[in-house]
Amino acid sequence: MDIGFIGLGNMGFPMARRLIEAGHQLVVFDTRKEAVDKLVARGARPAASPKDVADQAETVMASLPSLQASVAVATGENGVIEGKKVKRFVDLSTVGSQMAARIHGLLAKRNIVQIDSPVSGGVAGAEKGTLAVMVSGPRAEFEIIKAALDVIGKVFFIGEKPGSAQTMKLANNFLSATAIVATSEAVVMGVKAGLDPAVMIDVINAGSGMNTASRDKFPRSVLPRSFDFGFATGLMVKDVRLCLEEMKQLGLSMEVADAVGRLWETVIKDEGAESDFTAAIKPIEKKAGVIVGGKK
Ligand code: NAD
Repeated sequence: MDIGFIGLGNMGFPMARRLIEAGHQLVVFDTRKEAVDKLVARGARPAASPKDVADQAETVMASLPSLQASVAVATGENGVIEGKKVKRFVDLSTVGSQMAARIHGLLAKRNIVQIDSPVSGGVAGAEKGTLAVMVSGPRAEFEIIKAALDVIGKVFFIGEKPGSAQTMKLANNFLSATAIVATSEAVVMGVKAGLDPAVMIDVINAGSGMNTASRDKFPRSVLPRSFDFGFATGLMVKDVRLCLEEMKQLGLSMEVADAVGRLWETVIKDEGAESDFTAAIKPIEKKAGVIVGGKK
């Protein structure tokens, strides 16, 4: 099918590449020309703006880094909302349920259906097409795009209510955010007591403490101290803040979530929004006066 794709970053680029390789015709836009050029070299058509994308495709997907970018691309000047051909806007970004509902309402006035479709599984999952893809929106519209979404991962229909897939995604990312800082504290404790962190990670992964941080992030990016997993601290903090907001909206006060939120605020303050989220261990190391991993 003809698909518009806006936002060709760490996640968007491999997802768009897979859609082309599966035989879909893509028209693409990003504010970074080099990202567009790389996909044009693989057979995509370039567009000049989100509106230009939406003039050429009934289905427009987006993978954008901030709530502001999603709302501007979807509903701003020269945005998808002004497109002549577009029928549905599939937002693969994590924007939280309130922003999703807001975009849904604005697009509905122009008869464009908004479909939430946040994803989980990182850059490696996007490369391999093994993401968890969480969808909310009208069931009939979901059926139209299901085959395309199958190309990027395992698809779950969460419900028809706008934003419910975003709530699902925030619950997932809260656990991912917690796993990184909790594993960092566990390993820092061990290193402070004289344990070998590589042995610790092997034991945890063979035992009941195993989680996505110990399984993937520590072996690949923390123990070698490359801090290059492919997800920015700024994006992780965006998701943690959105999750805390969502809990507050629901009248909930959660002890673990509050503590995890405070830790991530320290990470973004100390390491910066552009750092890789695996750098979350650094403020914990600093406080403890130890360094985990690296060459002995
Ligand atoms: P990224 O910063 O690598 O990519 C975002 C892309 O959007 C960039 O290429 C940027 O140039 C482009 N962009 C920004 N503003 C734009 C605009 N106004 N118009 C057109 N293009 C614009 O971010 P990412 O890591 O790919 O994340 C994208 C979304 O996916 C975020 O919502 C993030 O939370 C979510 N996500 C990321 C991961 C991950 O591991 N990286 C995993 C799951 C979900």
